[in-house]
Amino acid sequence: MSAASQARRMRGPDELEIVAFERGGFTSYSACGIPYWLGRVVRDRDSLIARSPETFRRDYHIDVRLRHEVTAIDLDAATVTAWDAETGREVTEGFDLLMLGLGARPLRPQLPGADAAGILGVQTLGDALEVAAALERDPRRAVVVGGGYIGLEMAEALVRRGLEVTLVEQRAQPMSSLDEDMGALVADALREVGVVLYTGESVTGFETSDGAVRAVVTEQRTLTADVVVLGLGVRPNVALADSAGLPVGASGALVVDRRLATPAPGVWAAGDCAEKFHRVSRRPVAIALGTYANKEGRTAGINLGGGYASFPGVIGTAASKICDVEVARTGLTAAEARAAGFVPVAATVDSTTRASYFPGASPVKVKLVADAGTGHVLGAQIVGREGAAKRIDAVALAVWNEMDLGELINADLSYAPPFSPLWDPVLIAARKAAQEVTAAT
Ligand SMILES: Cc1cc2nc3c(=O)[nH]c(=O)nc-3n(C[C@H](O)[C@H](O)[C@H](O)COP(=O)(O)OP(=O)(O)OC[C@H]3O[C@@H](n4cnc5c(N)ncnc54)[C@H](O)[C@@H]3O)c2cc1C
Repeated sequence: MSAASQARRMRGPDELEIVAFERGGFTSYSACGIPYWLGRVVRDRDSLIARSPETFRRDYHIDVRLRHEVTAIDLDAATVTAWDAETGREVTEGFDLLMLGLGARPLRPQLPGADAAGILGVQTLGDALEVAAALERDPRRAVVVGGGYIGLEMAEALVRRGLEVTLVEQRAQPMSSLDEDMGALVADALREVGVVLYTGESVTGFETSDGAVRAVVTEQRTLTADVVVLGLGVRPNVALADSAGLPVGASGALVVDRRLATPAPGVWAAGDCAEKFHRVSRRPVAIALGTYANKEGRTAGINLGGGYASFPGVIGTAASKICDVEVARTGLTAAEARAAGFVPVAATVDSTTRASYFPGASPVKVKLVADAGTGHVLGAQIVGREGAAKRIDAVALAVWNEMDLGELINADLSYAPPFSPLWDPVLIAARKAAQEVTAAT
């Protein structure tokens, strides 16, 4: 819908007719807000909806067709076929330009019992309504499967709702988008808020009775569950485009150029289904983030509307939290840097979010990753309490602009006791990383 509304801003209804097919019942909502609505931090569900279908129809003259699932794309005939869930009929629509914003497909385990009632995902607002309904039935025990950021945020939501929460993660630490030493801090934070955490443990199946889930079975134990929330990650939703003959890249997402054009003339793709260029690893990646989807949607919309815009790529900046503990990352972790062919050095520092003497100062750990050869900042990870996560943005700009540690050390970041120590934790980490670079060369 970002692309559609941007294209509309470029071309009026007389010049460009826009039809939008959506298989669900909502448009333009913040999936990112779902855990906070379920956790009752955000009270009003409708506040997650940025623009309703009625707004798109009335103010943007976009013909939004809800509950229409596109089932086929014929590039030669320039048509899409959609199934209208309300009438049960198929409709075919021709196009001059086609924009694919198919999103991502949440992974579901192919395990015994996985289809039982009470095993829920949180990919869409429709899913969230199902979780909300399940929570209204006063469940006592919840198991979250998967310790990525969605699993983390859902664990928080369930804790807030007063459930006994267990989280099962197959890797050694939750938040596998961090290096393991930083993931260990997230594990501590989960335990601190009462989540029972089992890491290095895979789910092997689900026990059910009367079609409903009763327990999650892992290699080591059986965990009683009234409700199970899946946070196993997502993959680009490309099956439809793939079967239409559009190329899928090594990342598993649709191949697009910098303007978000696919190789098929007049066909564009943006968001979770589209491949992104990682500016540090210089590789194509599939990273599902709303911040990219919105920027790419705007870019594609300008191009669809006859303008010229390009999307410069991504560096994997993201933030999340578990109750009071904030988590953020940008660029490459040390492990990712090695995999991308760098020889990284990493410096980890413990500091405080405010001047150490200032009320409310709390611990923050910053891990900075740099290239041993050039001293370029490759990435950072931050875990700490209030005020920790958004510090990542300073490093993100350093990574984005290919700054080296010398430049970062002297960067003019703000200081006052309520906000940071005299040397911001990011700058202390940069100083330490510079020493590591010197030692390595
Ligand atoms: C719980 C949760 C929390 C998140 N938190 C954050 C966060 O804090 N920060 C962040 O940056 N990102 C976050 N994200 C990720 C972010 O929501 C996604 O990256 C973003 O929504 C992707 O936008 P998109 O338009 O590519 O896909 P989507 O928003 O998924 O939209 C794709 C749409 O296409 C529809 N569709 C798919 N196939 C068809 C078809 N064949 N026919 C018709 N319609 C179809 C789907 O129903 C869907 O509505 C979160 C996601 C979730 C689920």
